[in-house]
Amino acid sequence: MCELSFSLNFAAFGSLFPHTILVKQLSFRMLFFFRMPTDLDFMQFALDEARAAAAAGEVPIGALLVCENKIIAQSGNRTIRDNDPTAHAEIVALREGSRLLSNYRLSGATMYVTLEPCAMCAGAMIQARIAKLVYGADDPRGGAVRSCFEVLSHPRLNHRVEVASGILAEESSALLQSFFAARR
Ligand SMILES: [Zn+2]
Repeated sequence: MCELSFSLNFAAFGSLFPHTILVKQLSFRMLFFFRMPTDLDFMQFALDEARAAAAAGEVPIGALLVCENKIIAQSGNRTIRDNDPTAHAEIVALREGSRLLSNYRLSGATMYVTLEPCAMCAGAMIQARIAKLVYGADDPRGGAVRSCFEVLSHPRLNHRVEVASGILAEESSALLQSFFAARR
């Protein structure tokens, strides 16, 4: 069941990148044939999305939405391509996940993202009632989990999101640093 869902997920993505996705799909199935994927495994996929965003000229941030160990949606930042200030990787993934599950609530879902979410994305995660957030690097310039604001644990809100951070943080911030260094 889990394997089938991954195949479908990658098959959909594969129409865009048929060669790389075939390799990805096979390696993913082989890798997780004998064990369950971990937070670190899923963060590697989020980092792949961030790299793909960089290649498209976008700020390299990637996100992945996972439900019952299945990847429901994945995206990099799309703000420039879509002329959409709200098209952060997390928002795109939330929209896609909600559409696929035909539900605006994503209770039980886990969001993986390479950088600490901003206030908009943290707010959207509250609206979607996601259960857990796993992110890579802290964002001292706008992070809304703990760096600048504490949206996900605010006492006035009645939904709490479990948070794990620091996973592949160095890789995530190195990607951002090299992206901005190249543009200077
Ligand atoms: Zn955001």
